[in-house]
Amino acid sequence: MNLKKKAYELRKDVVEMIYRAKTGHIGGDLSVMEILVDLYYKQMNVTPENITSDDHDHFVMSKGHSVEALYAVLADRGFFPKEDLKTFATFGSKYIGHPTNKVNGIEMNTGSLGHGLGVGVGMALAGKMDDKNYRVYVVMGDGEVAEGSVWEAAMAGAHYKLDNLTAFVDRNHLQISGTTEQVMNQKSQEARWAAFGWNVISVPGNDLDAIDNAVELAKKVKGKPTVIIAHTTKGCGISFVENQVGWHHHVPNDEEYQAALKELDERGAQYE
Ligand SMILES: [Mg+2]
Repeated sequence: MNLKKKAYELRKDVVEMIYRAKTGHIGGDLSVMEILVDLYYKQMNVTPENITSDDHDHFVMSKGHSVEALYAVLADRGFFPKEDLKTFATFGSKYIGHPTNKVNGIEMNTGSLGHGLGVGVGMALAGKMDDKNYRVYVVMGDGEVAEGSVWEAAMAGAHYKLDNLTAFVDRNHLQISGTTEQVMNQKSQEARWAAFGWNVISVPGNDLDAIDNAVELAKKVKGKPTVIIAHTTKGCGISFVENQVGWHHHVPNDEEYQAALKELDERGAQYE
């Protein structure tokens, strides 16, 4: 399947999960999807077979609330049965509302924001020390980067010249309680990361080709980590969810659910 269409099919899985469970973070799930599709279908060397080895690429979903998008991708890539998604957020299920390493394919528990980049720095530094060829990828939210711990990790990543580390900022300009500029003004992510010594690439973040080109460029950079500022649309793919702060963790009603699936089908169909 065309991967651009795949991103819309996986969005339907996200909507179904959240509609069924009556909980979830739909806005950020939909915004981050092309990043996950590029990493898991094109870029990362990680499979259900090699996940237990020492040599596969590593992924940390630091913006842990977008776990539904990650579950949809991991199920489709065969890390666990797609049927398992039906248990999302039900009593006793390991498929909870934040990433947990009880789920096959997930290595790092996240959801307390600001922790993932530090872990990614550690993984990348370990790879250098152990002379491994793996690469490390971390995805953060743009609300999340107001956390001070992100910038400690950013300093360390540059200090240790971690060119095996690529971070993403899902730059959708919204967080739970408003626009990122209202909550904690952070204009020009690009200038901030550059000042911390990172290679910075800025792309339209729901454009799969642009994401893929950026990841390829990052692999060629030596002596510093790369951050890809992915300018995304929160809620991307469903017109009445897009750019709406209230849809950070709103659950679709019956009519919205049907309308969402219909629109995702239509948008995906353009890539057939
Ligand atoms: Mg955001």
